[in-house]
Amino acid sequence: MNDRHVYVDFATVRIQQYLSRTSDLRGHRAASNSLAYATSAAAVGKVADGLAEVNEEAGEADGVVSLRFPAEPGTAHVDRVRRIQDRVFGHLRAALPGAEFQSVWGEGDSYLSVYADTLRRKERDGDVRHDLPANAEFPLAIPCRSCELAPAAGREPVHERMEWLCPDCSMRNVPRRQVREDPRSPEARLRADIGLDPAPDHFPDLAALGAPGSGGNHLATVAADGNAFGVFFKALADEGLRGPEPASLKQRFSVTMSRATREALAAAVLELPLTLKTGRLCVVPHVVGGDDVLVSMPADQAWPFTLHFLREFEQRVRRETAEVIDRINARRAGLPGTALLEPPTASAGIVFARHRHPLNLQVESAGRMLSEAKRAFRGRRASVQWLDITAEGSDPPDRPPLLLSTLQNADGTPTRAHAAVTTLVRVPAGHRNRLAEALRDAGPIKAAAIADRVGHLAAVRPFLAPFDRPGESPAAGVGLAAALGIARWWTCE
Ligand SMILES: [Zn+2]
Repeated sequence: MNDRHVYVDFATVRIQQYLSRTSDLRGHRAASNSLAYATSAAAVGKVADGLAEVNEEAGEADGVVSLRFPAEPGTAHVDRVRRIQDRVFGHLRAALPGAEFQSVWGEGDSYLSVYADTLRRKERDGDVRHDLPANAEFPLAIPCRSCELAPAAGREPVHERMEWLCPDCSMRNVPRRQVREDPRSPEARLRADIGLDPAPDHFPDLAALGAPGSGGNHLATVAADGNAFGVFFKALADEGLRGPEPASLKQRFSVTMSRATREALAAAVLELPLTLKTGRLCVVPHVVGGDDVLVSMPADQAWPFTLHFLREFEQRVRRETAEVIDRINARRAGLPGTALLEPPTASAGIVFARHRHPLNLQVESAGRMLSEAKRAFRGRRASVQWLDITAEGSDPPDRPPLLLSTLQNADGTPTRAHAAVTTLVRVPAGHRNRLAEALRDAGPIKAAAIADRVGHLAAVRPFLAPFDRPGESPAAGVGLAAALGIARWWTCE
């Protein structure tokens, strides 16, 4: 039997920026639902019917579509690929008028090997077919009132007023209730997993769930995704080529990662102090697909959420991949100079901002923080970077990302830094602000002197280098400036 197939993949480009191009939560969710539906196996299978089938080997993720058809000798399939792309692009464009899509294809014995050998390289090299939103056809077109990125196509009621909207914003302009109850939405799927009351309808109400002392007007947006999946994937590909099950190995791995992400999210949400207190969903998921997570929540929930999510993800992945990693490492152990394979982990970027701060900018910053966190440890270790836009501005912070292991032990118990930050939070906020100022203007010795005068030297001491050896790192493994920043929204016990 000939098992050669031609695989045709489609992806939504810069998906998070696209979803958040309208600043309001309702529009964001409507777009995220449309995307989940348009890229679902059921919808795409129907569109490609007669030309290709859904590629079950690829696993499922929002915003990604994979199709395949049996390869024939010769180059007849080039034309077929083109027809498939035309059809699927047309379908995606109708559902998501303002998004940007790309497609790559390749031929081989299994999706695993085609992905590793061809698709990944083509994506990296930009050897892809693009499908872009339609441009303004009339130079005098009225700009869309909602996104101001595209020309308006018609007028319709928005918040009880008639507004000019582009097709993409029109797609997003559906009643919030309808969006929330759509069973395909990330929020509905999360609620189906954990069964809580719905999240608030608007950002100000979500922010207001934060502790009274925090002002109740700040949100955090957290972006997280897996580390070193490429390395792990490549190892799986090599392993798969040896065994009888290349396709099922990749499929199993995809499903495992998606499930670990969903379960870690559910566990982190359920364990949030605020969830336990209110019994309702306090985290709004924007994107949950593959190993990708983008969520918003009251600012004071972000640290407990992030630490919990990263730990849960790591534990689940470690458990699920233990067998295959042992198998691969048993072989590698015999090969001198070959590094042992580690299970993938996840990293996160957190952005704190007033709820009025446009969601698209928060999302962009969160993505940037995530990239910084990953880059700092070469995408190999669980890490986190954060930015407090209210306190620090929008520019990237001038401090290194943190390893998760600095804030939390593998079993979830607090580290020295964790305990020290918890102690630092007990110093009144006014004192902490003054310390931050002194640190910035006059340096650590001056800040320590001020802390000493008001009786808080013990609380800041773990974050300072020994006074006679200023080059050494602080006992807590975190500097005072970073610690004061973390303490601002820290509610971990
Ligand atoms: Zn628009």
